[in-house]
Amino acid sequence: MKDLPATPATLILLGPPGAGKGTQARLLEDRFGLVQLSTGDLLRSAVAAGTEAGKAAKSVMEAGGLVSDDIVLAILKDRMTEADVAKGVILDGFPRTSGQAEALDALLSEAGKAVDSVISLEVEDDAMVTRISGRFTCGDCGEGYHDTFKPTKTEGVCTKCGSTAFKRRADDNAETVRERLSAYHAQTAPLIAYYDNKGVLTRVDAMGQIDAITEALGNVVEKVTA
Ligand code: AMP
Repeated sequence: MKDLPATPATLILLGPPGAGKGTQARLLEDRFGLVQLSTGDLLRSAVAAGTEAGKAAKSVMEAGGLVSDDIVLAILKDRMTEADVAKGVILDGFPRTSGQAEALDALLSEAGKAVDSVISLEVEDDAMVTRISGRFTCGDCGEGYHDTFKPTKTEGVCTKCGSTAFKRRADDNAETVRERLSAYHAQTAPLIAYYDNKGVLTRVDAMGQIDAITEALGNVVEKVTA
């Protein structure tokens, strides 16, 4: 494994649902010693814990819409105060609106920092419904799998930790995916130009094999964390 980066970095993975942000963020986390920060995971934890934010977010998430910036920013800021974030973060699923992108810039600039690198995972919408409807994760270690593209080595047993408990997300169904894709195009895709104008954007073709995409992303991250 590579040494920890000398400079803590802020990386963003942009892309529609199913583009592989979570899978790739976990692989980059292991390789570069960065911390994956997924607002979707934070929101799902808030829903499971029944917090006020979780109660407000639940129905929006089930319908495939975007949770309000206020709720998402409060949850993110909370997480950003934890000590492990100092290692550098890979933001997965955040920002998703221009308001969130501007709030992130303001948050980082208070600490004299800025977003270091944004990787746009470029995929075709049609393939995303198939990708999402087959995916599941280990209920214990969180490793991600797919019925067709990344099955467990032994059926029903997590390849990483040996657990036999698995989860499928409630919003990973064809109808909700279409809503999530349309929210992505309307509100999140404009951020590609926002970060391109700042000179921090790299586009990566994310339609191929997981390993090849990981390699392409690793080359980008290596430059930022060197
Ligand atoms: P994800 O796990 O990133 O696919 O997110 C699952 C759902 O959580 C999304 O469909 C949204 O409803 C909500 N969500 C996650 N991140 C955000 C965000 N940054 N802004 C608004 N809603 C979000």
